[in-house]
Amino acid sequence: MERWILHVDMDAFFAAVERLDDPSLIGRPVIVGGLGARGVVSTASYEARAYGVRSAQPMAQARRLCPEGVFLPPRHDRYEEVSRQIRAHLERHSPWVEPLSLDEAYVDLSNVDAPEQVATAVHRELPREVGISCSVGLACNKLLAKLASEAAKPAGLRIMRTEDVDDFLRSLPVERLWGVGPKTAQRLYERGVRTVGDLQTVDPGVLRTWFGPRQGAQLWRLSRGQDDSLVMPVREARSLSQEITFPEDVYDPELLVEELRRLADLVSARLSEEEMLARAVRMKVRWSDFTTQSRQIRLVEPTDDPQVVRDEVVALWDRRLPDEGKGVRLLGVGVEGLLPATFRPLSLFGMQRSGPASARMNPVDADGR
Ligand SMILES: [Mg+2]
Repeated sequence: MERWILHVDMDAFFAAVERLDDPSLIGRPVIVGGLGARGVVSTASYEARAYGVRSAQPMAQARRLCPEGVFLPPRHDRYEEVSRQIRAHLERHSPWVEPLSLDEAYVDLSNVDAPEQVATAVHRELPREVGISCSVGLACNKLLAKLASEAAKPAGLRIMRTEDVDDFLRSLPVERLWGVGPKTAQRLYERGVRTVGDLQTVDPGVLRTWFGPRQGAQLWRLSRGQDDSLVMPVREARSLSQEITFPEDVYDPELLVEELRRLADLVSARLSEEEMLARAVRMKVRWSDFTTQSRQIRLVEPTDDPQVVRDEVVALWDRRLPDEGKGVRLLGVGVEGLLPATFRPLSLFGMQRSGPASARMNPVDADGR
């Protein structure tokens, strides 16, 4: 079966929603993000980008670069509302819609009669319906569809046919490929590899010695535009956890905290391995009389930062129910509400933080005893 994947990405989404609700902002540099001292830019309109404002930039820097900008705090509920509208629109074309973030989604059009016409229709109709422009890419897999829509930004449509792929990839900077973060890019640059075309000339065996078997093979495939990952309409609510059962009940609080930190590190390592971010952290303790207590905390910012997970777990431990002198049989640490790490830009709201750990809210008790 021939595969056709559509990637849709709204342009400067948060800023665009703000404009939708306040047309006086049209044409002005709009910057949405945390306005506090430690705030970070979530989205900059294209006018603001012309001043050098970028997402993930400290807000203070954005203010220096663009003093005449309009600076607004994010309104998540409203963005989610528009996001649902976008998703509903896409689901009219195919049930196979995989949201990547509030303003981005893959749509599998493999079973659709005329994928190119659908791409054209979405590109034309979605902005009309929602009031915000979007960029659309159509290609034979997710990797290429996303690269195509990026190339079409802003407000463009790019249909990438099989025969266009080689030319397109050849001049693309390596860091545009998935999984090529700043570190990998730096290592490639040092070896004279700057474009995907350069990367294609590197022998797969050499790539394996540079990056190890897994990443080496992955880079080789990506450099050829190969990607067989599936469009997943429903992301399972996933969680990761680690537990240990002590051979003898443990009474020493210092030792227990040390073990909790170690479990937190294991869980964080799994998170980054899976390229996921957690929205909640859970701590579980089973006492010597087999009663179990589980406490959970929701994070304002999704994270895979081991330090954050560690601090939250220790904070949960500090707020455990009185143990009445009981020993501990089992400790567990888990993370929940997992999101793909690609969601990260949306987490950069620069909200007020409490202390070194991420801001916290709604501590939730579960399981009782
Ligand atoms: Mg976008």
